[in-house]
Amino acid sequence: MAGEMVEFLRELVAIPTVNPPGDNYAACADWLGRRLGEFGYDVEYVAAEGRAEHTALHPRVNVIGRLRDTPARPLLHFNGHFDVVPVGHGWTGDPFAAVLRDGKIFGRGVTDQKAGIAASVFAIEAIRRSGVRLRGGVEQSGTVDEESGGFAGMAYLAERGYVSRDRTDYAILTEPLNVDRVCLGHRGVYWFEVATLGRIAHGSMPFLGVSAISKMADFLAVIEHELKPALSKRTTVMPVEPPEARRASINVNSISGGQPGGMQTPCVADRCEAVFDRRFLIEEPVEQVRAEIRGILEALARNDPEFRFEMRDLMTVPPIQTDANANLVSTMAGAVRDVLGIEPPLIASPGTYDQKHVMRLGLVEQCIAYGPGILDLSHQPDEFCRVDDLVQGSKAMALAAMRLLGTE
Ligand SMILES: [Zn+2]
Repeated sequence: MAGEMVEFLRELVAIPTVNPPGDNYAACADWLGRRLGEFGYDVEYVAAEGRAEHTALHPRVNVIGRLRDTPARPLLHFNGHFDVVPVGHGWTGDPFAAVLRDGKIFGRGVTDQKAGIAASVFAIEAIRRSGVRLRGGVEQSGTVDEESGGFAGMAYLAERGYVSRDRTDYAILTEPLNVDRVCLGHRGVYWFEVATLGRIAHGSMPFLGVSAISKMADFLAVIEHELKPALSKRTTVMPVEPPEARRASINVNSISGGQPGGMQTPCVADRCEAVFDRRFLIEEPVEQVRAEIRGILEALARNDPEFRFEMRDLMTVPPIQTDANANLVSTMAGAVRDVLGIEPPLIASPGTYDQKHVMRLGLVEQCIAYGPGILDLSHQPDEFCRVDDLVQGSKAMALAAMRLLGTE
């Protein structure tokens, strides 16, 4: 079925589901739903009614298929997000032509993560065509907006009980973490904005004002010279890949102050804003992560009466990890070992993905990421997936499904 799976993937990649803004979601859900229908699934479409990003121009439509004539429990749910990040620069070919060359399929979203969707759909289809009957249920979902937080996608499904411990025993997210690794979870994320407030004055007499940019520089100096060294000493027990990411970290995501761009007048900047991306460890309570930042700002204000600031939370994602001894983990790892002939490392992801919603909102305890895509190629130009990995990953998923659910 490899040839058929490749053609399936190429058709899926040719639907440019770019996010933002969320192009062609309804068309993609419809295409995937029709294919699942042909493969023996009852199909339901779930539009994210009530969410602000679900608009007439860019509807947020998810699709779920339930394999017909299978027991309700145990239930294995495969999920793949079908949104892809913008194309960006540096492509040597059409990113949506899904060209097959030298045993690789090229295109935006191939590795992250439409190859994962193809692999899980064909894993179960291979079992079905062989006439083997599973002693449990299988679902496949294609969801939107993972790249922008997943709120109209997996979070929406989990909040409404589609993916929930009341019905779902195992969840496999087919994200690109490499075909020979099993991913248990991810670190936490805390995004926040800091604004420093100054006092405007003529630029020729800066001593009459207070520069918000200078005050931001004071804050950044503490971040660079005190916080960063402290964070780099905090390490996690989670097996994050790459290993450099097994530490807490902070990145200045953006900064703007004074008169950004355009024509300039001589003024002391009265406002400067910066957005920070703090990655935290499962060992760090989120309240402590927030308090640490606020503490730095308050200390600066104590020592300098002209240091005035505002601080605002933008997004918090808790760290999450499935127990390495869980049945789902050992079964998936065993299947990878038997297909590839190597012992797959159990890893954690440096970045977050929809596992947080499955576990925090759906309360599903056994959730992992496993897929054929290549982590390092995610979001890159000339992103590709090897046909070989696609086939091997699909075989490992099929074997894991048979062992998790049992066969008649
Ligand atoms: Zn992804």
